Amino acid sequence: MSRVNPGGYREAAAATLRDEPDVRDSVGSATRTFDAHRRTAYGAIDVERWRDWARDVKSHALTHLDDYLEQAERALLDRGAQVHWAETAADALGVLDAIVERRGVRSAVKGKSMLSEELEVNAHLERLGVRPVETDLGEYIIQLLGEPPSHIVGPAIHKSLEDCRRLFHDRLGTPLSAEPDELAAAARHALRAEFLAADLGISGGNFLAADTGTLALIENEGNIRLSTSLPPVHVAFVGIEKVVPRFTDLAGLLQLTARAATGQPIGNFVSLIQGPRRSDEVDGPEEFHVVLVDNGRTTLFADDIAWEALRCVRCGACLNICPVYRQTGGHAYGWTYSGPIGSIISPGLLGLEEAMPLPNASSLCGACTDVCPVRIPIHELLHHWREEAVAEGLAPRGEAFGSRLYAAMATRPGAFRAGGGLLRHTPWPWIGRSLPVLGGWLQERAAPKPSRKSFLKLWDEGIE
Ligand code: SF4
Repeated sequence: MSRVNPGGYREAAAATLRDEPDVRDSVGSATRTFDAHRRTAYGAIDVERWRDWARDVKSHALTHLDDYLEQAERALLDRGAQVHWAETAADALGVLDAIVERRGVRSAVKGKSMLSEELEVNAHLERLGVRPVETDLGEYIIQLLGEPPSHIVGPAIHKSLEDCRRLFHDRLGTPLSAEPDELAAAARHALRAEFLAADLGISGGNFLAADTGTLALIENEGNIRLSTSLPPVHVAFVGIEKVVPRFTDLAGLLQLTARAATGQPIGNFVSLIQGPRRSDEVDGPEEFHVVLVDNGRTTLFADDIAWEALRCVRCGACLNICPVYRQTGGHAYGWTYSGPIGSIISPGLLGLEEAMPLPNASSLCGACTDVCPVRIPIHELLHHWREEAVAEGLAPRGEAFGSRLYAAMATRPGAFRAGGGLLRHTPWPWIGRSLPVLGGWLQERAAPKPSRKSFLKLWDEGIE
């Protein structure tokens, strides 16, 4: 069954807040920690220059996408890789079908990959009779729980240490008092056998350098390195937007991504993969497949405004700072990508109708834009999708009516003054509590008292 359900956002968010109060604590605490580390790591470099540079590199690659993708393909083929072009999720999964059948694959180890979540690779492998095993610790936890990731970088961010202790006690036999190191050791022990037995390794790709055909992968646990080098076949699912022009671009992009994601100067492990094992190498797969996946990206690129979302390097910094995401974590968003990036990329990849109401899941405070390492104007893109929703008749009728009413008043000075006066003399605590949306807000908060004189009156009297 498909997990795509952004339309259920409001109900899912309300249910999380009502039924799972621990989620808000776990997510809030973890995202604040991530964000504090990011701030320190940004402060150690001339980050504004880095962000300008990263924006320009990614934008240049996106506006010359066909050239760089073909260049990357040639370089990969020259080094013995096999390249597949997948227009849709079904095309990408079809590549797996052929490999599984030809190689008799029974089990697969996976590195963390949001694209593989988007494609629902695990469910597909299970349908093929293949046992997929997530090897990133956070992904491993949520796979044991049968849940999707809640965060791009920290998939199990919504779980507390107590949750993990109970889970590992039940599934791996660790003591209920086990410390995090003991839990990690138990997972490592269980996964070691999986790495050695796997017929197939699956990864995503952080970047693909066109000039050398180098697939760059960044991680902290070493599990991606094992997943991509121990099994005899490695399949990398790579979104077409991940291509960058030069091998030398990787140095800056990998560092900036790590700083934005976890506050590290660079990830603990960086793998630069250029092909299958050569005759003089001791490890590496016999076959290396790169699946270049579109799955809606070309459609998103055709949007004159929203295309900038394709610069995303999936660092999760915008999730960590988002006051809305912090309340519920990622599951409420109903699809692979959550938080601010989910709210701007899902309408492009799924279609706006399917993705509503995600563009409204934001206060438009702009904090996400301030932290994005590739300068995606996230709050402007949220606004863009809201405008599109109104234009396509997808916005709630009351909201569209309210916007039209405000526009009509704001463009007529007399009406604006009269409306302002009326609002200033309205007994808000009494009326407000009975209104939809505003009523909920005022149950928890006192409406500020209007000032004695309106701003327009003060303006007329000559305030500076
Ligand atoms: S939109 Fe920017 S901040 Fe958010 S995940 Fe993507 S790159 Fe990171």
